[in-house]
Amino acid sequence: MRRHRKARIMTATHRPSAPTIDDTEAIRRLRESFARQQAAFAKDPYPSLAQRQEQLGALAAMMVGNRDRIRRAVSEDFSVHPELFTDLVEVLGVAGRAAYAAEQLANWMTPEARFTDPGLYGSAQAAIRYQPKGVVGNIVPWNFPFDLSVGPLVEMLAAGNRVILKPSEFTPACGELLKEMIAATFDEDRVTVVTGGVDLARAFSQQRWDHLLYTGNPEVGRLIAMEAAKNLVPVTLELGGKCPAVLAPDSVDATSVEQILGTKLIKNGQMCISVDYCLVPRNKIDDFVGLAQTHMAERAPSFSETGDCTGIITERHLDRLIDLLEEARDAGCTIVELEPAAKVDRASRRMPLSLILDPADDLGVMQEEIFGPILVVKPYDSIDEAITHVNEGERPLGLYVFAKDEAVADDVLTRTSSGGACVNTCAVQGALPALGFGGVGTSGNGRHHGIEGFREFSNPRGVVTRGEGDLIQALYPPYGEVAQAVVTAALNG
Ligand code: NAD
Repeated sequence: MRRHRKARIMTATHRPSAPTIDDTEAIRRLRESFARQQAAFAKDPYPSLAQRQEQLGALAAMMVGNRDRIRRAVSEDFSVHPELFTDLVEVLGVAGRAAYAAEQLANWMTPEARFTDPGLYGSAQAAIRYQPKGVVGNIVPWNFPFDLSVGPLVEMLAAGNRVILKPSEFTPACGELLKEMIAATFDEDRVTVVTGGVDLARAFSQQRWDHLLYTGNPEVGRLIAMEAAKNLVPVTLELGGKCPAVLAPDSVDATSVEQILGTKLIKNGQMCISVDYCLVPRNKIDDFVGLAQTHMAERAPSFSETGDCTGIITERHLDRLIDLLEEARDAGCTIVELEPAAKVDRASRRMPLSLILDPADDLGVMQEEIFGPILVVKPYDSIDEAITHVNEGERPLGLYVFAKDEAVADDVLTRTSSGGACVNTCAVQGALPALGFGGVGTSGNGRHHGIEGFREFSNPRGVVTRGEGDLIQALYPPYGEVAQAVVTAALNG
């Protein structure tokens, strides 16, 4: 078993260091806002359906109304970022998610009746009533600064909570804009934003939240879970890892390659559900490489010089990717540059896409989440071997299977585990407002999006209302005839 593949996902030595920021004032503001939200929640713990729908409407209007500023801020932080993609995901994706939640909310909030045994409980009624948790924190990473801050805010507000958002120190322009937009849209005791560095992030994870959401790498995820445990704070961890694409022998074709490379080019690979590596039948590796070269030459020529190629978030993150590629080159791996004439552009931090063929398991590209424009291609000899390979690594956030035969796709899905999955495409599981999204094992736990998100940020309170004709007193000591009658009846069916 290649268990060592589990050990090095984003180690401290490989994680780019954060900028140094004096957080004294930000931490003071965090504590003040937290106390204010707690007090407001105590006074008004259950916003009505209409109030929540109004908040969701305001959230959607905030995104659309600030569209130009959002596009500019994302481009500033990434150096280059396609504005249409900002529109699609960061602006309209979030606004659409809010509209969907507003439309579904009456159903989501309706108490769910549960069975009670009439022989014992008479006409009592039982139901799950979804109650706001209270004050919820959201620690956001740099890669989708609005989709991962305001996106989950949709279900947090739908569930009736008060929320403090903390953007990443690596996206200062987006963080400042978010702070301004939220302050202009919501009362501070409903939603607010705190910005700062890692000291603020640590202090944030130490608050006694009613629920904490963290999205980011698994290493910091562990620290967050440990801090939250000290206060018994429930945590949703949206983490990362290495997402595989498994290509069945009948599906090494232009359509599959278009889906895989198209997904990989989104944000130049800086997406948690991007394809990290492909498992390809050994005798089809050359076909796969040829199809990838043709795809890039025909569909995305000089891609890394265009405005559709997102810059790597910082120079340190760029250096990490260059080091991963150089380590593989030094180890003698075959590297296929899919834009042979292109070079890394340090000024804009754009890097061209490369394939690495069959790297050894001890190389960084096999042990760390790549999170950039490098795609590993691993050969396999049987579908069993491909499945074993996936199962020997950590459970991924996303798994993609390409197969014409539905039975083969089902077999791969049944014998592997991942947070989400797609058949014959990639990453769409993260785009649907109605589909719960999250990880499993080291790729995280808990869900946001849709009803699963609403429930994640709610307290599913079990409520019993006593009726008539029950035998509840059978449970009260001293135990005698009534208890005996209940036991006898239960044993006799
Ligand atoms: P990052 O460096 O921006 O860190 C994420 C957040 O953690 C930031 O807000 C940061 O301030 C905070 N943080 C850093 N150190 C901390 C500490 N000691 N205590 C508390 N908070 C701390 O982002 P990143 O981690 O580089 O993000 C990339 C990772 O996130 C990848 O692994 C990716 O797969 C994962 N990711 C997962 C999802 C998902 O939905 N599952 C989405 C996006 C990214």
